[in-house]
Amino acid sequence: MVNKPVRFQRPSGDISGIARKARLTKLPMTKPMFQQAALIGVGLIGSSLSHAMRRANLVARITACARSEATRATVRNLGLADEVFEHAADAVHGADLVILCTPVGTFEAISAEIAPHLKRDAILSDAGSVKTAVIRDVGPHVPEHVHFIPGHPIAGTEFSGPESGFAELFDGRWTILTPLPDADEKAVAKLKAYWEGCGAMVEIMTPEHHDLVLAVTSHVPHLIAYNIVGTVSDLERVTEKEVIKFSASGFRDFTRIAASDPTMWRDIFMNNKEAVLEILGRFTEDLAALQRAIRWGDGEALFDLFTRTRAIRRGIIDAGQETPAPDFGRKIPHGNAGPGKTS
Ligand code: NAP
Repeated sequence: MVNKPVRFQRPSGDISGIARKARLTKLPMTKPMFQQAALIGVGLIGSSLSHAMRRANLVARITACARSEATRATVRNLGLADEVFEHAADAVHGADLVILCTPVGTFEAISAEIAPHLKRDAILSDAGSVKTAVIRDVGPHVPEHVHFIPGHPIAGTEFSGPESGFAELFDGRWTILTPLPDADEKAVAKLKAYWEGCGAMVEIMTPEHHDLVLAVTSHVPHLIAYNIVGTVSDLERVTEKEVIKFSASGFRDFTRIAASDPTMWRDIFMNNKEAVLEILGRFTEDLAALQRAIRWGDGEALFDLFTRTRAIRRGIIDAGQETPAPDFGRKIPHGNAGPGKTS
């Protein structure tokens, strides 16, 4: 039999008055919440944060760090930061908000580098897609006078780099914060209001629960997509040309997900092993049950499952997290999939 689904708490969705006003009206806040925000890494998430912060006037000044000269040049050309540095330590100097927006595997080295340069009472957060490993890697480096509050925006596309960001990325999407039990309440409230100002809804949960939820909703689905696209590309009796020519929407959607950044996704699987393996175990049991249903011609079992899964999709649309439009509302120019939400 197919396993029972994992149950999660319903999100509360309450947002602070000022942030709600800024989000709904897209009017800038009259007074910036932070004097200086430092973005460590300016890819899809870092550049989208820059656009969103500027849209709502959340910070007076943005500093950034990018490792390659090409990215620093793009940051300057697009005006994504007031000043961009090669070294993270320079970017965090004087910042009252620091957000790590590089792949999760880089966090430990970066936090060791910036720790001595962090301002007293600064908020240090991140956008990383896993949370227990981030606390393990960053936590020991954080000075006592700094508020470390891990975070994860559940918003993204399969595109990377500083040109791929846009101000609306976080609008109506959830951001999860996983503060430590002794976190300063005022700092947590301020970071929550900041994300709401960026357009997001905020949920607070433990890092362990975050990692389990994300293993189910994002990490394992990505692994399945990587796997099916890999399997198809290894097939010998169907040519690659045929796969591309006859790809129906199911496979096309898997290829969109499987086009996500390899470094970021390698780091996610290296750092959320436990939860991913737990969900994968259940997934493979369910897959075996489906295999058996097909082998024994058990149409009723298949129909029952497909009816149940259809209701889940309906729930996602009703919650405003997806569109009922064909092809998930994406324009598909010249047969290529356009942007879609992936994590
Ligand atoms: P991205 O577009 O690939 O950008 C990554 C940025 O990190 C680039 O500026 C890159 O610099 C820099 N970087 C990469 N390796 C580095 C290293 N070793 N040292 C210093 N800088 C390095 O990535 P992203 O999609 O914005 O993701 C950033 C973070 O957000 C990740 O932790 C990811 O887990 C999380 N996240 C992503 C999504 C999503 O859907 N994409 C959603 C939610 C959360 P260069 O440009 O110079 O290479």
